[in-house]
Amino acid sequence: MAITLHVADESTPVSRRIGLFGGTFDPVHYGHLRPAVEMAERYELTTLYLMPNHKPAHRQPAAATTDNRIEMLEMAVHNAPKLEVEAREALRDRPSYTYDTLCEINQEQPDATLMFFMGMDAFAAFDTWHNWEGVLALANLVIVNRPAASHSAFSRDLLKRQQASHGELIRCGSTGVIETCDVTQLAISATDVRRRIASDLSVRFLLPEPVLEYIADNSLYQYNH
Ligand code: ATP
Repeated sequence: MAITLHVADESTPVSRRIGLFGGTFDPVHYGHLRPAVEMAERYELTTLYLMPNHKPAHRQPAAATTDNRIEMLEMAVHNAPKLEVEAREALRDRPSYTYDTLCEINQEQPDATLMFFMGMDAFAAFDTWHNWEGVLALANLVIVNRPAASHSAFSRDLLKRQQASHGELIRCGSTGVIETCDVTQLAISATDVRRRIASDLSVRFLLPEPVLEYIADNSLYQYNH
């Protein structure tokens, strides 16, 4: 499929740039947070929203409740400039799709340029997402490099067709441009964090201290899922 690029010229005023970083955040860890800080700076975002999803169709049920995941995220971004939590997907009482969320945000903020951020592992499976072409019609995509994650044939091909330079991505409107982004590589995963907790091993320095305390206070992740 072909996606049209609408690249503005140098004189086009820079609109508000809203970043959305979707995920399960079960729990949030520094492998999410450090890239989020770097991306907000690199793309000069007005705000980067960490957006916890509803129990996703392709994954096991989250190991913490929706409220737990949101509360941990709120603690993690407390006092972090430009980082906020957007919980609308998680709070829906039905499975939700990124495409529908982007449509809503686009209607609410028609002047904003939307940038959707995802790790390389998520991008490799992007063709399994509901209406992924629609997602590209509404937002630019930034693919965040992640240790041990690699392309699929689909993602390599899509990137080849839609790749833009950093300058193009910064200047263009919300239209399907894709860039890969190098961030500080932290080989942390929520799966590993949950496994360590279930095995009674320390997860100190893998996630913020207040989140650690919250997990202990609420006895989360005591069993392997
Ligand atoms: P799990 O281990 O349960 O699959 P996860 O650690 O991959 O969880 P998610 O909530 O699924 O975390 O990830 C949300 C987004 O953050 C995804 O786009 C994912 O690719 C990205 N991401 C997660 N961990 C890292 C990391 N260490 N470095 C870069 N990107 C990451």
